[in-house]
Amino acid sequence: MCEREASGRVMKNRLAILNYHQVPADADPLHLNTCHRHIFRKQLESLARYFNVISIDEGVRGLFAGKLHRNSVVITFDDGYRNNFEVAFDELQRIGLPATFFIASDYLDGGRMWNDTIIEALRSTRKTALDLEQFELPILPVRTNAQRVAAINAIIPVFKYLQPDEREQAVRRVAKIAEVDLPDDLMMTSAQVKSLHAGGMTIGAHTASHPILRRLPAQDAREDIIAGRDFLEQLVGCKLRYFAYPNGKPGQDYDKTHVQMLSELGFEAAFSTQWGFADRSINRFEIPRVGFGDHVGWRFSLRLLRSYFEAPVQFAA
Ligand SMILES: [Zn+2]
Repeated sequence: MCEREASGRVMKNRLAILNYHQVPADADPLHLNTCHRHIFRKQLESLARYFNVISIDEGVRGLFAGKLHRNSVVITFDDGYRNNFEVAFDELQRIGLPATFFIASDYLDGGRMWNDTIIEALRSTRKTALDLEQFELPILPVRTNAQRVAAINAIIPVFKYLQPDEREQAVRRVAKIAEVDLPDDLMMTSAQVKSLHAGGMTIGAHTASHPILRRLPAQDAREDIIAGRDFLEQLVGCKLRYFAYPNGKPGQDYDKTHVQMLSELGFEAAFSTQWGFADRSINRFEIPRVGFGDHVGWRFSLRLLRSYFEAPVQFAA
């Protein structure tokens, strides 16, 4: 049987790729509406019950061969957070589902991404307000969690598109102003990445330093992509076939130069953060993804089902 849209397009052979970042053990007051262990477990239970969860290899190959079963889903994680290993991997193993982890290699073994330096500085500061006027920000009150979230949301957009070196200095200045010691255990260790791989999970490339590729000269972008891939290939002892763009917005964070670059570098497919399902008509180096934060139960399943009908709106190439 074959369902058809009003336009007459065939509805089968569509893939939803779920995109997660952190999965902490408990709800985090500074990451509102995001997943944690209990929610992730419930989402996995819905996926196992109503969807066809497959590995990224089966998903990408099935998609372009036109052989996907109905309600096919691939699960992905970006960045390489330690809670991906300690919480998400644990839950995935418990229920027996595969997933792919796109890892920014520079932050393994004690590193910290710039946005986390801001979040952790604001989490642990004992100050009641931060004077960030040197960044052309107002004085930000940080006494309550709501104020801390508002301050994070004010700071991150100002820092996001700075050059990497400049940004690293800026976040260190914020940490200094906040007068805090920062954690060095937010990301996975190399040994944990090896264990994920040994446990049947797929490891994907996500650059070395997680730059906004469009903000770098093409050669630097290429080198960062290769450095991340080579490190992880050496670590897990096999070829990495998939890549996820840092930040991942088409035209804004990467463009057709990078789409071409990934093809030349021998990757099999690449994933953006553009919202949408994948079908056979899309460029294999710009596969869109979906994410549903803290939705569970019928709300999660219905939103995921609906995503098979919501067309992507923008591509870079
Ligand atoms: Zn990322």
